[in-house]
Amino acid sequence: MHYDYIVIGAGNGGLSSAAKLALNGKKVLVLEKHNIPGGCGTTFRRGRFEFEVALHQLSSMGSLENPGPLRELFRQYGIEDKIEWVPIKSLFKINLPDGFEQSLPADRKEAEEVLCKRFPEEKQNILNYFETVFGFDCETERFLKMQADSTGEPGAIRKSLTKTLFRRKFPVLAKYGLRSTQEVLDEFFQSKELQLCLNAYWCFMGVPPERFPFSILARCTAIYMTDKPYYLKGGSQVISQALAEVISENNGIIKYNCGAEEIIVENGTVVGVVDEEGNEYSCDIVVSGISPIDTYFKLIRQENTMINAKEYLSGYKVGISALTCFIGLDCPPEKIGFTDSFNLIYADTDCNEAFQNSYNLMPDKDPIITTCYTIDDPTVSPPGTSVITAGSLKYGKPWMELSIDEYYETKYKAANIIINRLEEKFHGIRSHIEEIEVATPLTHMRYLNHPEGAIYGFEQDLKSSVYFFPRESLIKNLTFANGWVNICGFGPNYMYASSVVDELLSKEGRK
Ligand SMILES: Cc1cc2nc3c(=O)[nH]c(=O)nc-3n(C[C@H](O)[C@H](O)[C@H](O)COP(=O)(O)OP(=O)(O)OC[C@H]3O[C@@H](n4cnc5c(N)ncnc54)[C@H](O)[C@@H]3O)c2cc1C
Repeated sequence: MHYDYIVIGAGNGGLSSAAKLALNGKKVLVLEKHNIPGGCGTTFRRGRFEFEVALHQLSSMGSLENPGPLRELFRQYGIEDKIEWVPIKSLFKINLPDGFEQSLPADRKEAEEVLCKRFPEEKQNILNYFETVFGFDCETERFLKMQADSTGEPGAIRKSLTKTLFRRKFPVLAKYGLRSTQEVLDEFFQSKELQLCLNAYWCFMGVPPERFPFSILARCTAIYMTDKPYYLKGGSQVISQALAEVISENNGIIKYNCGAEEIIVENGTVVGVVDEEGNEYSCDIVVSGISPIDTYFKLIRQENTMINAKEYLSGYKVGISALTCFIGLDCPPEKIGFTDSFNLIYADTDCNEAFQNSYNLMPDKDPIITTCYTIDDPTVSPPGTSVITAGSLKYGKPWMELSIDEYYETKYKAANIIINRLEEKFHGIRSHIEEIEVATPLTHMRYLNHPEGAIYGFEQDLKSSVYFFPRESLIKNLTFANGWVNICGFGPNYMYASSVVDELLSKEGRK
């Protein structure tokens, strides 16, 4: 059987690229290892609760009248109005051990106001900081547009934009583009508490502020404040299902419980795929929705390609995974003092230091990331109950070294520490737990099949930031659309996959 395109993996990147290809009349086959679409974009049930696997806040949606780029994309796919979107009121709430609490509204003016009120001695610094963040975002948009418009010869933008001219045209980008979040926050602020109120998105990228590119923090802050964070009724599984339907309705095929086993290469060119059942398909192009590591080393297995891939990927490190408790409570959130959906609970104001504990098994010092989905959508679980996820970022390696017996013991010990730490903040939570399920880095390895259970792909630190993702394909007719070659996250991946398809279609047009 021949397909125009074979997409490997029905995660966010895979689904978005396959939907766009199918909508453009291409004959598409998607191979997915799991029995449902979505990858990280899935939900699961325990008792009377449905738990969200990954999505806390969807970015780039914007409003109906003033749509952000993701809403525009969902319109193109015809799924925007099939889904009930839920705006989230606050970006996050910071909780410190001495009882300090501060939530940040999802609006620039309001955020400036609450922070200036809380830290009056840093008022001017706060205003200057927001000016810089939004200036950075604005210049990035202009720079990206300039790049997109210079479609001519490769490198044209570099020739026309000398170093001096770049500094003049994009002063904020030039000054802050390659600096870490910590460096920039130290430049602006004295107060460590204030810094924590502004840097929380480090946990969405899985690197501590000293390694977290300020470029990504600035973009995240400006995008979430402008387009607002969103959730949706039914959880991220609903988007995945809707995209899967777009694919099937446009004659695409998704095979579940059937991963890709091998990518067939002839004379240095991809010509087809073998699935786990041994079926062989020929195709023009393979779009990989999985890591370049698995693509090159597990699926291609050609000595030359492996040597080149080893060299090409040598500068990249597999990123962090997560330890998460999925908790169904038999009480509403206010009963235990939950007010904001997304909370960061710190054991210390030095979050760079606290992050070091991610390399250990137990979450005794790590920042606890806690989301209560019921705050913004009270219908997410039966009346009078609530759904919470709470956990910390953890590297996969120490978990991979455990024996089976050690694994179960460690998993429940770690979950118990998380509940104890929640209990300090939300008194009585333990006695209201009706259901609990625990996911570790090994769970992510099992269900997502990513190396070391990485949830954000490669480490998204300064070295592999927006400017240096390993996007080049080392072999003809193979391309990538997933969180390993792009900023991780739902919105970024749906959109990046769409841009990958635009490029593929325009190449077809140029043939
Ligand atoms: C706990 C957690 C919390 C997160 N929180 C957020 C958040 O709040 N906001 C946000 O924007 N992002 C968040 N993310 C990150 C976001 O979910 C990911 O960056 C994004 O989903 C990655 O998409 P992807 O396309 O790379 O692949 P994934 O969603 O990881 O999917 C990969 C798919 O490929 C399949 N697969 C693997 N190997 C094969 C094979 N050989 N053959 C066929 N199929 C295969 C897997 O089964 C899976 O379905 C979170 C992730 C996790 C896990």
